[in-house]
Amino acid sequence: MRYAPPKGTYDILPPAPGRDAVQNSALWQWLETSFREICRQYGYSEIRTPIFESHDLIHRSVGEGTDIVAKETFDFITKGNDALTLRPEGTAGVMRAFVSNRLYIERPVTKLYYIGPNFRYERPQKGRYRQHHQAGAELLGASGPEADAEVIALACGFYARLGLTDLKVKLNTVGTPESRAEYVKALRTWAEPLLPQMSGENNRRFAQNALRMLDSKEPQDIALLATAPSLSDYLDEASQTHFAAVKGYLTAMGLPYEEDPRLVRGFDYYTHTVFEIQSVVLGDKALGGGGRYNGLIEAVGGPATPGIGFGLGLERVLLALEETGISLPTASGLDAFLCPLGEAARASCVTLLAHLRAEGVVCDMDYTGRRMKAMLEQADQCKARFAVILGDDELAQGVATVRDMITKVQEVAPLESLSRLLM
Ligand code: AMP
Repeated sequence: MRYAPPKGTYDILPPAPGRDAVQNSALWQWLETSFREICRQYGYSEIRTPIFESHDLIHRSVGEGTDIVAKETFDFITKGNDALTLRPEGTAGVMRAFVSNRLYIERPVTKLYYIGPNFRYERPQKGRYRQHHQAGAELLGASGPEADAEVIALACGFYARLGLTDLKVKLNTVGTPESRAEYVKALRTWAEPLLPQMSGENNRRFAQNALRMLDSKEPQDIALLATAPSLSDYLDEASQTHFAAVKGYLTAMGLPYEEDPRLVRGFDYYTHTVFEIQSVVLGDKALGGGGRYNGLIEAVGGPATPGIGFGLGLERVLLALEETGISLPTASGLDAFLCPLGEAARASCVTLLAHLRAEGVVCDMDYTGRRMKAMLEQADQCKARFAVILGDDELAQGVATVRDMITKVQEVAPLESLSRLLM
């Protein structure tokens, strides 16, 4: 019996020629390191939370009317009868951990970042998986527009660090829950007579979560939405002032953005600022997004604490980089590959390898007893800078032949001085 990876999942493997970027583990390490570095620069610390949380937490905080919870969660009951859900996004678990561990008493402002897998039962296609990965950040305890601007700058800074260009930052405000409720009422009144002309999806949204109608990608809905009431007409003054200040800061930071009055995003918990970063080379597909969620911490049982954050899909970053044709960094190779000729030499190489590694040399050896040519090919495949060849003659004299894999020049060197030569 042969098993394939479960539908909508894929394996991340050692780099090899022709391998898709999304399956290349060296690129994942590079993405993750880049994200960690920029988060450290901005003063964010890592948090790691379980990949499953209580069913209730996920369903209530993401929102029962959202597409994610309505159709896409992996829910299960444990043998002990606990109802759990694999996390479909990062924020709910981080908020739960913030409250469970009472992080709010440690400092007035908490800045957290995470990297990890999320699970959504979606129809798999390019750039859409059932297990995908996000890098995210959350800034908790600051309600001012500076925090919104910082979080957006952090997301953009990550892409810039990777060399990813051709991005659009879409920005909107969804105001306070009160002003939004007023707006949703008006939106429903407007939509009701038009329902027969709208897509099935927007009919469902009308019934379950009317605000999400604005996000429809169906041409028939988009045409109708041109006449829909505008959320900005329902914003209270404080929301308008906050939004104006966020935009002012972004401009001052030199971060271009486009206002998109129909941007509402897929979660119920947002208040005020919402944003999405889209990739032009991926046909304006979202690379990531986020927003402010001032009521969420209270909703999961913590003290009223404002928050803002984002989640960036990492698979899509790799797809966009590949599409842009940016030369992606390659895995670094070995300092040396040891090639023993014969049984006695193999035994010596085992000790030599341990010795060189203890000295800090990045090295490996042949374990297959192949012929010289095959071993040198493997040295090339491992991107070894040098091949260290050890046969009976060399052994007898306490030396090794060191072959420069680029110039092909060979020299004989005493075993004691090898590590200096190789590093
Ligand atoms: P969301 O949490 O829905 O706002 O998604 C944030 C980002 O995660 C999106 O912009 C995508 O880049 C990525 N993402 C979300 N769902 C998937 C998925 N099923 N497969 C791959 N990437 C995803």
